[in-house]
Amino acid sequence: MISSALASAPATTALLEALHFSATKHSAQRRKDKEASPYINHPIRVAQLLASEGGVTDLVILQAAILHDTVEDTDTTPEEIERHFGPEVRRVVEEVTDDKSLPKAERKQRQVEHSPHLSSQAKQLKIADKAANVQNITTSPPDGWSLERKREYLDWADRVVAGCRGCNPALEAVYDEIIAQGRQALAALAA
Ligand code: NDP
Ligand code: ZN
Repeated sequence: MISSALASAPATTALLEALHFSATKHSAQRRKDKEASPYINHPIRVAQLLASEGGVTDLVILQAAILHDTVEDTDTTPEEIERHFGPEVRRVVEEVTDDKSLPKAERKQRQVEHSPHLSSQAKQLKIADKAANVQNITTSPPDGWSLERKREYLDWADRVVAGCRGCNPALEAVYDEIIAQGRQALAALAA
């Protein structure tokens, strides 16, 4: 018992350091839902889905999940991620970071094309990220999104996730459940 507690101490510290870093970087940001939830809720949810639903214990994936939007959405650089969390976490974060210099439609198309070529770590992160966003869009949606736009997002998420399958069946099953519930919720809105 004591030895397992000691063995997990560095992992706990590593996760808390990632949380502290991400919370600081995202502190001024809010999600697009009506309540304008704190942005950090999203990366926490992605990491929690991976651990609780996907059974993921790989610290690199969990830290990358907590940090996954810092390079895309804050002033964080990949070098900074590497300095604090090492080259593996940097690599996974970079794998799931869009090139923001590209137009939005092209970025979305690239995610579909690139997803089959991601590492297994990045694929799992993508599935959890899409599951979290699909759940948000269908339960506490971004203000002003039409039904059509929500449907388009779900269809696109399905295309990205299709390229990520085969890396974590438990997580994929949870994604499938969330998207099925999301489609039901949208169908109810349309009725
Ligand atoms: P956005 O990319 O603008 O927004 C979705 C992203 O916002 C998510 O992937 C997520 O990214 C982040 N996000 C922040 N808060 C939330 C939240 N509460 N719930 C879910 N996601 C949240 O939207 P689209 O995917 O629609 O992309 C824009 C595209 O939509 C354009 O290509 C445009 O052509 C099209 N469009 C369609 C319209 C329509 O009515 N059909 C209208 C306008 C645009 P992250 O995980 O990185 O935080
Ligand atoms: Zn995200």
